[in-house]
Amino acid sequence: MGKIIGIDLGTTNSVCAYMDRAEPRVIINEEGGRVTPSVVGFSRNGERFVGDVAKRQMLINPLATIHSIKRFMGKKYRDSRREQQAVNYLIAETASGDCGVEIEGRVYTPQEISAMVLQKLRRSAEDHLGESVTEAVITVPAYFTDSQRQATRDAATIAGLDCLRIINEPTAAALAYVHERKRRSTIAVYDFGGGTFDISLLEVDRDVAEVLATRGNNALGGADLDRRIVEWLVQRFQEENDLDVSNDAIVMQRLRDAAERAKLELSTATTTEIHLPFLVADSSGPRHLQTALTRATFERLTESHFQETVNECKQAMKDAGLRPGDLDEIIMVGGSSRIPRVQELVQGLFRRNLNKGFNPDEVVAVGAAINAGILEGEVKAVTLLDVTNFSLGIEVQGRRFAKLIEKNTTIPTQKTQLVSTVIDNQKTVKVHVLQGERPMAKDNVSLGEFELTNIQPSSRGAPRIQVQFSIDTNGIVNVTAEDLRTGITEKITIEAPTGLSKVEIDRMKEEADAAEAKTDLDKALKGLRDQVERKLVALEELLRENKPRLHKKDIFEVEQALKRGRMALIKSQDRKKLNELLTYISRYHTHLEHRLSNS
Ligand code: ADP
Ligand code: MG
Repeated sequence: MGKIIGIDLGTTNSVCAYMDRAEPRVIINEEGGRVTPSVVGFSRNGERFVGDVAKRQMLINPLATIHSIKRFMGKKYRDSRREQQAVNYLIAETASGDCGVEIEGRVYTPQEISAMVLQKLRRSAEDHLGESVTEAVITVPAYFTDSQRQATRDAATIAGLDCLRIINEPTAAALAYVHERKRRSTIAVYDFGGGTFDISLLEVDRDVAEVLATRGNNALGGADLDRRIVEWLVQRFQEENDLDVSNDAIVMQRLRDAAERAKLELSTATTTEIHLPFLVADSSGPRHLQTALTRATFERLTESHFQETVNECKQAMKDAGLRPGDLDEIIMVGGSSRIPRVQELVQGLFRRNLNKGFNPDEVVAVGAAINAGILEGEVKAVTLLDVTNFSLGIEVQGRRFAKLIEKNTTIPTQKTQLVSTVIDNQKTVKVHVLQGERPMAKDNVSLGEFELTNIQPSSRGAPRIQVQFSIDTNGIVNVTAEDLRTGITEKITIEAPTGLSKVEIDRMKEEADAAEAKTDLDKALKGLRDQVERKLVALEELLRENKPRLHKKDIFEVEQALKRGRMALIKSQDRKKLNELLTYISRYHTHLEHRLSNS
């Protein structure tokens, strides 16, 4: 059996780790980084890049550079207005009403884009481990709904990974803590990332991690802090130049870039320079932006966001019935948790020193790897008592929502419900499953509808069909039904209103495989071209250095060969031609050396 890898598939950044003899290890990507930006870039000729390379092209090709795709996973198009505003690329509606991303006329699903990120992580893991990798544990935010979890799992399948387990990000961080500390404590996991904020309170011991409460805001993260700085910059620029740049997409992207850089610097420095030459030009010439941003100003601009996180923490403590002093450890997760003001506020709130023993970028992936280690049997088992963050229920008369499984129930869990017919000789019963907290069905997230068919004709209310709803350890909903009269059990697949069918996933996986094979081929060809190039240069050099010792005829011949070689290199697109070329040039090299040794 190959290694199982642990993946933190983040909105902004992703990290991959594995267990190396019971010790978690982060995998270094091709570019040498431990963290891979969750960004996919497409070039005009259909090439795609993932990670740092893609992030770099964001400025010049914003329409074909996809970031923050996680915000669209498992989302209905009509529910994604807010998410759409946060990105520059085009969001399209797929045939099933889900979100898609449109690039040069082709629509990709968020699952496919995420799969490209996962594929890169898998490749890095394979390079590192020297074996093929087919299984993974993947983390998701605690508040991810069933459809978002399904979408994550489908993304893994498309990327050639069997997702053995989906665990919540804060629970993963707690696992990392349990792995190191192994003592009973009540901990808080404060996760402030690029696009989301989460707070989880857990009770952990040597072999158990129990979630007491989790809350969060899935529309609050580092990007919102950047936005505040951008607004400030736009205003200053307007005041000084009487020019409003807020409608210029390229200028705004440059400002966002500069704002994030300034923010990062202010985590260590107390003031930073923002300098953007030639920001815009008008009839009076180019205008530059140059200003200093102090940490104090940054904190003033962003304080309300920080307070929002504090309020969520207070609410979580209330939910868990805890007081600030009850917590033993505060684990800081996510890039934005490095901000000094954030640390100060959190420390003040919980009245505890922060645990800085974990790398905030890596701790979630490390936890996923530890979970993988448990599945491999390499690490002693830890029981995860996670909770569901949404109530699960069905639609009942009057389009109302009846809860069957309440929010904050420990998972796995199950609940049964008897359903019957409402008219005589009714043959089918329809059940609409939803997730959410609102009283009316339409205000909650629809997981799908299913129909019980072949009900034996009888008077209304007579058939007794027991439907079982369960939420598994992955937070994924399953439904089965049993006709209590006949004892026939049916596993019901919810006709998902969102998500992909098996056929679609298979097709996407095939395409992903083909794209990967093409990348391999491109790489192999590039390598071969390189080899030819080096041979040509070596031959040129040999000729140049030894010209005085050679006959005119030989010089002429080699020069001709070099010319032909150069031409052929431009034209040769396949491996066979390139290999022939390699032989051709090598022959002249040997020939020349032979002449020289005889001269
Ligand atoms: P996600 O979980 O959304 O993938 P990360 O945890 O990787 O995100 O956090 C990314 C965010 O953290 C970005 O907004 C980035 O600007 C911010 N960030 C990273 N390092 C720092 C730092 N030193 N100071 C302030 N913000 C930071
Ligand atoms: Mg994260």
